[in-house]
Amino acid sequence: MGVKAPSTACETPNAGEPSIGIYLHFPWCLTKCPYCDFVSFAIEQDSIDHDGYAATVCAEIEQRRDILQSRAISSVFIGGGTPSLWRAEALGAVLKCLDRVTEGGLHGIEVTAECNPSSLDAGQAKALVSAGVNRLSVGAQGLDADRLKFLGRLHDGPLALRAIEAALGSGARSVNADVIYGVAAGSARGQTAEQAACEAEQIARLGIHHVSAYQLTIEPNTPFGELSRAGKLPLLDDAILADSFVAVGDALAAHGFVRYEISNYAQSGEQCEHNLGYWRGRDYLGLGCAAFGALSRADGTGWRYRNPPTPQRYAEMVAAGDLTPHETDQLDGEARMRERLMLGLRLLDGLDVEACASILGVEPWPRRRLEASGDLQARGRLCRSGPRLYIPPEAWLWADDTACRLF
Ligand code: SF4
Repeated sequence: MGVKAPSTACETPNAGEPSIGIYLHFPWCLTKCPYCDFVSFAIEQDSIDHDGYAATVCAEIEQRRDILQSRAISSVFIGGGTPSLWRAEALGAVLKCLDRVTEGGLHGIEVTAECNPSSLDAGQAKALVSAGVNRLSVGAQGLDADRLKFLGRLHDGPLALRAIEAALGSGARSVNADVIYGVAAGSARGQTAEQAACEAEQIARLGIHHVSAYQLTIEPNTPFGELSRAGKLPLLDDAILADSFVAVGDALAAHGFVRYEISNYAQSGEQCEHNLGYWRGRDYLGLGCAAFGALSRADGTGWRYRNPPTPQRYAEMVAAGDLTPHETDQLDGEARMRERLMLGLRLLDGLDVEACASILGVEPWPRRRLEASGDLQARGRLCRSGPRLYIPPEAWLWADDTACRLF
């Protein structure tokens, strides 16, 4: 089984390959997990203004009609927050609106919705698929009750497994499960590498198509970040984390999954198109409260924007018909090249440095990059095949450091 070949070495927005991803943010969850730094607000499901939020997003889509009609849509990703809390008819109304404005642009493309086990039963899974979602991503995170409680999750292992089964029985063409490993809870010494591998394996055995397995990271602006600064958060040793990274990978490989990105595994042909676009530098349009977008200009420069970070301010922006971004970040070609290296080197097939540099209008091999590349290759941390650089899987543990040395 091989990894799906990249359609291009590096996405070429505004020139020949103008497809664009859509990221739609749903900013509510039932509770706030202590490790999470995504924009999400704790709320009871009945208190969400399901139709009101859908109407606001549809109004934003109308206001972004020009860009939506000038680019082919490659994928839609509905993230959050907990999109499975959204009444499926309301979510479906947004997809219909997108499809209408793009004149059938959603036909045949990947449409993912993130789901939590506590809000995904068989009925909701089928309703999401009827509404136009064809890929369900279930935030299982693990199967051990104590570890899930430590992470602030509302579900336990059996409920996580039932939600995955509901997704598999829904008619969705692809199902992903998210797993978090490296959790210092659930037994006296915290999660061992063997336990992490065993949980990933139990999930893989259900017959899912894709697994995203991330190490628990401690973000500064979260309750876990505060506890960590105070020295009160139990953490695992780096050696256990490294062993878990390898053990989870081996367990999933034994079930036919290919690790096509450092933290992502897919059965043949089941790679996530939306995230592949992100790692390859494809433009994406952000819709909804707190959504990020990233767009290119023909000269290789680009910019990122973010919509207002609260539902109220987002609704006010759309009602005023003024999509002036809440935050913007202007990026020159060199900054974008650094981003391409950081993200592209996470992929099994790496990136084509010369194609990216040509699109971004920068020098592919400045002396410092050439020297660093030679040094990293000599140390077994990097491989070069013509214009393409990639990190051999045995050196993935140092991927971020490797990418930074090539800046
Ligand atoms: S359910 Fe997901 S998005 Fe919501 S608070 Fe927890 S980790 Fe964050």
